[in-house]
Amino acid sequence: MMGEITLVQNVTVLGATGSIGRSTLDVIGRHPELYRVFALTANRQVELLYQQCLEYKPQYAVMADENSAAELAQLIAASALKTDVLAGLAGLQEVSGADEADVVMAAIVGAAGLLPTLSAIESGKRVLLANKESLVMSGALFMDAVKRSGTCLLPIDSEHNAIYQCLPANYMEGMARVGIRRILLTASGGPFRTTPIDQLTKVTPDQACAHPNWPMGRKISVDSATMMNKGLEAIEACWLFGLTPDQVEVVIHPQSIVHSMVDYVDGSVLAQLGNPDMRTPIAYGLAWPERIDSGVSPLDLVKLGRLDFATPDYGRFPCLKLAMDAVSAGGTAMAILNGVNEVAVSAFLAGQIGFLDIARLNEAVLNDVDSRPASDLDLVLAADADARHSANKLLASGLFSKGSV
Ligand code: NAD
Ligand code: MG
Repeated sequence: MMGEITLVQNVTVLGATGSIGRSTLDVIGRHPELYRVFALTANRQVELLYQQCLEYKPQYAVMADENSAAELAQLIAASALKTDVLAGLAGLQEVSGADEADVVMAAIVGAAGLLPTLSAIESGKRVLLANKESLVMSGALFMDAVKRSGTCLLPIDSEHNAIYQCLPANYMEGMARVGIRRILLTASGGPFRTTPIDQLTKVTPDQACAHPNWPMGRKISVDSATMMNKGLEAIEACWLFGLTPDQVEVVIHPQSIVHSMVDYVDGSVLAQLGNPDMRTPIAYGLAWPERIDSGVSPLDLVKLGRLDFATPDYGRFPCLKLAMDAVSAGGTAMAILNGVNEVAVSAFLAGQIGFLDIARLNEAVLNDVDSRPASDLDLVLAADADARHSANKLLASGLFSKGSV
């Protein structure tokens, strides 16, 4: 029943031109009586953001890159649109925290999403969190900001959305208190789940980005191939749901139909299932506690026939182990992990290093940069900068250049 949603919600979409951003606009476009686009943002994709402005007529469009903002402003001035164009971090923060915005979809990729997402949280918006890197980096500070502002934070990452749907309302009282044994975090295993390990040295960025079940942005696709994505998600689950690392178990499930599960002490396991399409968690986040149509086709379990599960192999996926170690280490270790991983993935996508070098570079930087207590945002941002600096220094040394394995 949708009867109770009456007011039109103004939505800011951070990262509108990306995979999650486009899926969000698709869901919004199905419900013009419920949602209006307040602001759209992107980094450099001027032409696509302009097309989205023509279709959704936002009050604001923001480009993080200043030159791109100037180009977009010219296109908009020559059109009949009344959209105001803003630029840079200040523009992103303005549309995230603006009084007129009710909901913010946080779908910028990487650490660049942290400050705009925090602006949305601090001003008490409903925040739909896709940008897992921001939470991974700043965990406790991020969750403190959520508590302080009383904002409604809804996880959009499909696994966390599934867990959220399977948890009792009072889950924050503690897992033992509400009778939960553990969380089963499912993972597809990515495109190289069964590729002979000796062939992984030569896999290309396009092969790494060819995810078997989910079409996604290139950074998260590479993270899925290394399973760093699942490591980041284990950390994300710990912060979101108040879990310790040993309460999160990663299970490989190649079909990506069971999006994750909650295991209760009485032996009940609750799971959320659905076709692998991000419009389901996005629609859930937009409409919660109601339900709306997302455009996703109904699940046909009979046609699917089988669901498989297996244990991940740390030998094949060393990045998963690095992430689990970082969450146990605590403090700024997670910001360091995230920072170096962003550099490593960019270097791999640029053809500068091989696929297996991603884990090697991540490990080298985690050994090189000391973890400290993550007691304020400046320390987190400094850890991120130190990790990037160390990673770039190692890349420049040639130790990780392609073919050095
Ligand atoms: P994407 O690469 O397709 O899109 C990224 C968006 O961020 C684009 O709009 C881009 O313009 C913007 N952006 C990039 N760098 C920026 C910067 N420096 N400043 C401001 N904006 C910038 O990525 P995606 O696949 O849509 O993923 C977005 C986020 O959602 C990531 O954190 C990812 O981990 C998470 N996520 C994605 C999926 C998915 O299915 N794609 C699923 C779960 C979680
Ligand atoms: Mg996910």
